[in-house]
Amino acid sequence: MTIPALFVSHGAPTVILDESPVRTFLAKLADTVEKPDAILAVSAHWETAAPQVSDAEAPETIYDFYGFPDALYKLTYPAPGAPDLAEKTRKLLTDADLGPVETEARGLDHGAWVPLMLGWPDADIPVTQLSIQPHKDPVWHYRLGEALRPLRDEGVLILASGNLTHNLREFRGHAIDDAPEEWASAFGEWAGWAIAEGRTEDLLDYRAKAPEAVRNHPTDEHLLPLYVAMGAGTPGEPGRHLHKSYTYGVLAMDAFAFS
Ligand code: ZN
Repeated sequence: MTIPALFVSHGAPTVILDESPVRTFLAKLADTVEKPDAILAVSAHWETAAPQVSDAEAPETIYDFYGFPDALYKLTYPAPGAPDLAEKTRKLLTDADLGPVETEARGLDHGAWVPLMLGWPDADIPVTQLSIQPHKDPVWHYRLGEALRPLRDEGVLILASGNLTHNLREFRGHAIDDAPEEWASAFGEWAGWAIAEGRTEDLLDYRAKAPEAVRNHPTDEHLLPLYVAMGAGTPGEPGRHLHKSYTYGVLAMDAFAFS
């Protein structure tokens, strides 16, 4: 079976607690793909200079956020690790000249475990995580995805997790269900259109081509996972829009599948 690569927006960690359209969507994430044999998560919250992949046998749940409700710090996602998949990932990236790739027994950060816990609450699918490189550009991350594409034929779900828009300076003062700010929806609409139309070149050059690009991504680590999922898709196949909503007026929570 060939499994599509997914990009999801994980939002604030409290997405897992608070009712919202994106929470409802993520709770049905398993319905969007066949049950994978293993999951390779690529989260915006593991940033390293060169790619790293986790060979943890039993990845711990990392609480990489501060000042949130106590209930969040009690959640655990006890899925088994996937050291074999980590090794395959390391080899694929090395063979594509995207190394050196180091392995480390690292747990799952909230960019990974929030969508995993909602989508696959049984925690019975082995999971590993690959880091992103925040100082490298979208083209680099697209190439990571291209190199990982063969994993999709081996029953692996590539689950890229970031946010379609992400400006936390403008997040405060908003309620979860506020209507989107115009500058956020301008970017969200453009990106949704560009993905559905297969405008890969425009997307790779988004800082020049997209409306309000810098305001929506003052730094672009939350968009970079999108390019890994895009690169893992089949060339010439546009992405499918799985979900579209906003939280806190500024966070576009869109999700896409790349078959
Ligand atoms: Zn995040």
